[in-house]
Amino acid sequence: MSEQDLMQIARITTPNNPMEDVFQLGDRDQELEKSVLDKVLADLQKIRTRLCPRQVLGVRMGIYAGRILNLQMPQTDKGLIVFMETDGCALDGVTASTGCRAGRRTLRVMDYGKVAATFVDTYNNAALRIAPRINVRGAAWEYAPEASNRWEAQLRGYQAMPSHELFTVQPVSLMRDLEKIISQPGLCVICAGCGEEIMNGREIHRDGENLCRTCSGEGYYFLEQDFSPLPIESLWE
Ligand SMILES: [Zn+2]
Repeated sequence: MSEQDLMQIARITTPNNPMEDVFQLGDRDQELEKSVLDKVLADLQKIRTRLCPRQVLGVRMGIYAGRILNLQMPQTDKGLIVFMETDGCALDGVTASTGCRAGRRTLRVMDYGKVAATFVDTYNNAALRIAPRINVRGAAWEYAPEASNRWEAQLRGYQAMPSHELFTVQPVSLMRDLEKIISQPGLCVICAGCGEEIMNGREIHRDGENLCRTCSGEGYYFLEQDFSPLPIESLWE
């Protein structure tokens, strides 16, 4: 997939209509969300030394997506694919609530530097892009007036705010077929340039040859000519 393809994956079909009313949850759903949130955050704290506001946003995005798409969370199969628009804490949060991970090939990082994600139900291709509302930092204070600073207001406020006040939801269509993005198991060719294996149909066809992206000129590194490793002992000092 070229960089250009990546940039276009979440084509927004209704840019001026976040449809917040449609996705406003009832009281019972909000209670359910809160109980799930508390459980997921407790689990997350076992692997992260301290919670941060972006982790909370990530967890809540995943839970909200699950409620709207009516999917069981966390996912144990490949019924949900997440396109996460940043790495870091928000991604950890989304993983914790959805069960989707890069290692399971159910989460892809689109490195746009945005706390936002598109959640795709693979059974019917319904796709929702969820992002924090633009004024969300200020709004968090209203739900955590006792907070002693901005960070704490966000940490607490993001846990207390109703989802529709926290996020916009945009129904979207993917720019490429999900099947092509995910690919299929077992696909493997040899690069005519470097001889390395290329999985998942990621080869570039040129002049009758299969090339990896690096050999086709789309590499992300240059080969270094004069690299000198440190003595191995230095790793253990
Ligand atoms: Zn190659």
